[in-house]
Amino acid sequence: MPTDLPAAKLPLSKLVVLTGPSGVGKGTLLARLRAHHPDLFVSISATTRSPRAGEVNGVNYYFMSVPDFEAGIAAGKFLEWAQYVGNYYGTPRLPVVERLEAGQSVMLEIEVEGAMQVKKNFPAAMLVFILPPSMEALVTRLQGRGTDDLAVVEQRLAKANQEIAVADQFDFRVINDDLDRTVAEVEALLFGEKEKV
Ligand code: ADP
Ligand code: 5GP
Repeated sequence: MPTDLPAAKLPLSKLVVLTGPSGVGKGTLLARLRAHHPDLFVSISATTRSPRAGEVNGVNYYFMSVPDFEAGIAAGKFLEWAQYVGNYYGTPRLPVVERLEAGQSVMLEIEVEGAMQVKKNFPAAMLVFILPPSMEALVTRLQGRGTDDLAVVEQRLAKANQEIAVADQFDFRVINDDLDRTVAEVEALLFGEKEKV
């Protein structure tokens, strides 16, 4: 057994899914995990949503047209996909499968319907549902992020209520109150300090 593995290396090849309502802090959390664990492969999703200011094709998302996305669905190119507030979002299958087969851990940051598909199709995957400390905090975060106009924020909040209602169907629930504490709790899950139930 090599003894000089970097401390941050994950112990097992795992498919980990971070899910939860928009604005809860999944992206923020993921950026922190990524910085701590360079060996973690983070899937880049495809979407038909328009890029936000500063978003780069192939970095934040693969931005696609609706016909191209639908052709991808028909060709089985997505590991999971869903429609969310008027746009398609999906995980390209091939990069994820290749990394898992190569023994690398993979993380997906996706909405709840897609996470349910992963749960069904990959029973060994670890599904972590991120919850806001309160609905008021979620509203503040969604508005404070400043990326969506009021109508879109309202649609995302309506969706959030439906999503939070099924949180108990996931393996773990983590409340994103203090970011440092939340990162530590998710890391404890990744390193297997808690058993999947
Ligand atoms: P998501 O990816 O789930 O849609 P983001 O990561 O974009 O959410 O976070 C939404 C907003 O909430 C951002 O402005 C982010 O800075 C803020 N945020 C994230 N985590 C926390 C936290 N623990 N406490 C306060 N604000 C947070
Ligand atoms: P946003 O438009 O804020 O980037 O993302 C909207 C929602 O879509 C978020 O909850 C985000 O986690 C989710 N999402 C991003 N990529 C994917 C994906 O590949 N599949 C699914 N099902 N949801 C995704």
